Amino acid sequence: MFFSRLLLYLQKGFDMEITKVSKDAFAVFAACARTRQYFGISVDPVARGQYKFVWAFKISKDQAVKEGFDRQQVKGAISVDPGFNFCPHCGGQEFVQCGNCGKFFCYYEGASSCPHCGQRIGQITTANEFSFGGGGF
Ligand SMILES: [Zn+2]
Ligand SMILES: [Zn+2]
Repeated sequence: MFFSRLLLYLQKGFDMEITKVSKDAFAVFAACARTRQYFGISVDPVARGQYKFVWAFKISKDQAVKEGFDRQQVKGAISVDPGFNFCPHCGGQEFVQCGNCGKFFCYYEGASSCPHCGQRIGQITTANEFSFGGGGF
């Protein structure tokens, strides 16, 4: 069971203005392992097979389900917008994709399980490509 680490190669920006997203933008459902609270991430497709995390926002699980945040499945590399605010609950900048449920979560050193499905966190590998669910917007 591999958990995939997202390479966040850009440091958190000081410019906190929200970058506008395109009409093709969608949202993915994520959770914070530290606070066990949920959030959404607005994602913009920047090219074929390339996605950009633009903004993270607090949302309830019910709301995310209602908005259809897992309606479609996409696959590609993920980069981060310079204005990305990272985890809206704890400010954590390390995101990991669960090898069991495929959802993203904010990871911290010592986190023991996926906040979505409870899968025990084993080995974490660094990935360049991700398959993940998104929707809404
Ligand atoms: Zn967090
Ligand atoms: Zn999981």
